[in-house]
Amino acid sequence: MKPVRAFERDEGVNQRTDERMNERTAGLFSDIQFVKGVGPQRAMGFAKLGIKTVYDLLTAYPKKHYDRGAVRKMGTVRMGEDVTIQGRVAYVRDYKSPRMGMRIFSVDLSDDTGRISAVWFGQSHLRRIIHVGDLLIVAGRIDYYGTLQIRVADFEIVSGEDAPAIHTSGLVPSYGPVDEVGRKYYRRVVWTVVQDLTPGLPDPLPSELRRQRGFLSLGESFRAYHFPRTVQEKERARRRLAYDEFFYLQLVLAQRRRDVQQLPVARPLKIGPVLDGRIRALFPFTLTRAQERVIGEIRKDLVSSRPMNRLLQGDVGSGKTIVAAYAVLACVGNRYQAAVMAPTEILAEQHARTFGRMLEHSRVRIGFLSGSRRKGRKDLLKKIAEGEIDLVIGTHAVVQEDVRFKSLALAVIDEQQKFGVMQRAALRLKGERPHVLVMTATPIPRTLSLTLFGDLDVSVIDEMPPGRKPARTLYEAGGKRAQAMEFVRSKLREGRQAYFVYPLIEKSAKLDLQSAIEAHQRLVSEFPGYTVALLHGRMKDEEKEAVMEEFRAGRAHVLVSTIVVEVGIDVPNATVMVIDHCERYGLSQLHQLRGRIGRGSYDATCVLFGGLKSEVSRERIRVFTSTTDGFKIAEADLRLRGPGEMFGTRQSGLPEFKAANLVGDAQLLGWARQDAFAMVGRDPALSPLVRELLGRRYENKAPIVSVG
Ligand code: ADP
Ligand code: MG
Repeated sequence: MKPVRAFERDEGVNQRTDERMNERTAGLFSDIQFVKGVGPQRAMGFAKLGIKTVYDLLTAYPKKHYDRGAVRKMGTVRMGEDVTIQGRVAYVRDYKSPRMGMRIFSVDLSDDTGRISAVWFGQSHLRRIIHVGDLLIVAGRIDYYGTLQIRVADFEIVSGEDAPAIHTSGLVPSYGPVDEVGRKYYRRVVWTVVQDLTPGLPDPLPSELRRQRGFLSLGESFRAYHFPRTVQEKERARRRLAYDEFFYLQLVLAQRRRDVQQLPVARPLKIGPVLDGRIRALFPFTLTRAQERVIGEIRKDLVSSRPMNRLLQGDVGSGKTIVAAYAVLACVGNRYQAAVMAPTEILAEQHARTFGRMLEHSRVRIGFLSGSRRKGRKDLLKKIAEGEIDLVIGTHAVVQEDVRFKSLALAVIDEQQKFGVMQRAALRLKGERPHVLVMTATPIPRTLSLTLFGDLDVSVIDEMPPGRKPARTLYEAGGKRAQAMEFVRSKLREGRQAYFVYPLIEKSAKLDLQSAIEAHQRLVSEFPGYTVALLHGRMKDEEKEAVMEEFRAGRAHVLVSTIVVEVGIDVPNATVMVIDHCERYGLSQLHQLRGRIGRGSYDATCVLFGGLKSEVSRERIRVFTSTTDGFKIAEADLRLRGPGEMFGTRQSGLPEFKAANLVGDAQLLGWARQDAFAMVGRDPALSPLVRELLGRRYENKAPIVSVG
C-alpha cells in the first residue's frame, strides 16, 4: 500500500492548496456578470437564456460542433470544399449586386500561396469592422466566379499572431439559439471561462475512481466538451459529464434509500409456517417458480425490521395480483391493516372481487373505496379508522384526506405508472412507515428503472403461468376487414369473446377516426345473435362496472371500448382483440391492450388496422407484431420515442439529461450507480464539494423521482 501523501506534507502547504481550490470552486458558481467582458447589462441577456452562473454556462453544452479543420493554404483549396483560410486583407469592397439585388461586402485575402476573395451577403456594417491590413481567418465554402471566392460562414480578426481562432478553426461549438447575446460573443465568453477557470478546477470524483473509469478531470471535461481538440476527445469528455448526470441522481437515490432504511419498521410482522400454510390454502392454483421466488423476496422484507420499498415488475398476465395477495394476507394475518390502490374503478372492482372470492370463508373484513361510491362512506371511514376493516381496496379515493387507518402496515400500489408522484407518496403517509409494494406491468428497461426507481428494490416475475400461448398478432393496413369479421364470428361460435378498441368515444369533427359509439352500432349488426356491449371513459362508474360484469360473466360476447380497458382487466375467455387506428397508440400502450388477451389456455389473436405514415410508426408495428416480450417492446419504445415521451418527464420526475443518453449510456449508468451507492455507504455526509455540486443540481428543483 502506498503511503498517504497528505500526511507527509507540510500543513501550511496543504492549507494553501485548499484555499486555492475553494477559490476555483467558488468561481464555478459565481454570477456570470463577473466574467471578463460580461458585466450587468450583458448578464441580463444571459439570464434570458437561463444562464445566471458560470456553472450554468459550462453545463449548457454545445448542440454540435462545426468541423472547421486546420487553416489551409489558399493555393491548395478546391471549388466546393468547406475550408478555413487565413490571410491579410488587401482590398475591401461594398457594393450592390445587380444580379442578386442585394448588398455584398467582400475583401481580398492573400497568404504566401494565393489570393481569394471572401464574400458576405447583406452585411455592409462589416465595412466598419474589417479594414485593409487586418489579419483575418474565415471559414466557409469555396466557390468560383471568375476567381476563387469563399462564402463566409464565420470569421474572426486575428489580433495577435498566435491568438487561437475559436470561431474559425478546429471543432467550433454551436449553441443553438443564443441571439439574446450574439453567437460569437457567447462563444467568446465560454472560451474565456474555459481558459480562466477549468485548469485546476477541483474534481469531486476521487482521482483513483477517475483513473479506473478512464475519465478526464471535471475541468478538462468542460474544456473538451466545449472546445474539443478531436472528435474522440469530445466523446471522452461527454462520457465523463454524462456519468456525472447519472452520478448525482444516484447519490440522491442512495441517500433516500439510506434514509428509509434507517428507520425501523413500525409494525414488525411474523410469518411462520402456520400463517404461510393458511395463506397458500386460499390460492386457487399452484404458483409459478417466478412467483415463488418473488414471494420469498417479499417475505424477507416483511419480516425484517426495515420497511419494504419494493417494485414488482411483471409483464401483463404474469400473475402479480396473487403475489400482492400473499403480502396482504401476511399483513392481515398479523392483525394489521393493508391497502391496495388501483388506478381505475374497473380494476379496483376486479381486485375487490378477486380478494372477496379468495377470502369468502375467512374473517377478513374488506372495505371498498372509490370516487363514485358515496353511500355508506362515512360509516366505512369510521370502521377503517377504528381498525374494524382489515383490507381496504380502492382507487385514489384511498388516499383522500379523510381516510385514516388505525394500523396500516402495508400499502400496495397496482399499475403504479398510472399514478402521479404525489398520490403514491400520499398512500405511504397513511401509515407509520408501512411496507410499500408498487407493481407495474410496464416493463421498464433497466436503464430507466435504475433512474426512475433507483431507491427501490426490484423483483421481477419473468415467467408466465403454465399453458399460456402468446397472442398471434397481425397487421392489416386497411383491407381484409371482412375476413377479420368472419374470423371473430368463428371465435364467437367457439364460445370465446372479443374486444374491439377505438381511439375516440364519439365521432369528432376534427379527426377522421372511427369512434367507439359508431363502431358499436355497426358491430351490433355484424354479429347478429350475440350481445355487443359498449364501454368508454365518459360512462358513469356504475355503468362501466355493470358492463364489465356482463362481459366477465360471458353474457356480453363482444366489448367495444376505448382505451379504458388498457390496464389490468382479466377476462381469460376473451381471446380476440381488434385495434383500429393502431398508429394512435404508443408501443407500451399497445402491449398493455394486447395483454388483455392470451390470459388463458386458448389461442389468442390480435388484429391491428391503421395507416402507418412514418418510418417510426412502421418500425413500432414491426416490433410489436414480432414479439410479445414486454421488455423487448419497452426497449424499442425507449429507443423510438425517448424517455420523455414514454413516461412523461414531468409526471415521472425523470430529470432531463443533457450529456447522457439513457439508451446508449447504460454502462455509465451502472457505474454511476455503483460508485454513488458506495460513496454514500462510506461517507453518508459526503464531501463538501460533492454536497455543493449535488445541491446545485437538485436544489429547488421539483421532487426528483419518488415512488411509494
Ligand atoms: P397481472 O400480472 O397482469 O396483474 P394477474 O395477476 O391479473 O396478472 O393474473 C393473470 C391471470 O393469470 C389471472 O387470471 C390469474 O388468475 C392467472 N394466474 C396467475 N398466476 C397463476 C398461476 N400460477 N397459475 C395459473 N394461473 C395463474
Ligand atoms: Mg394486474
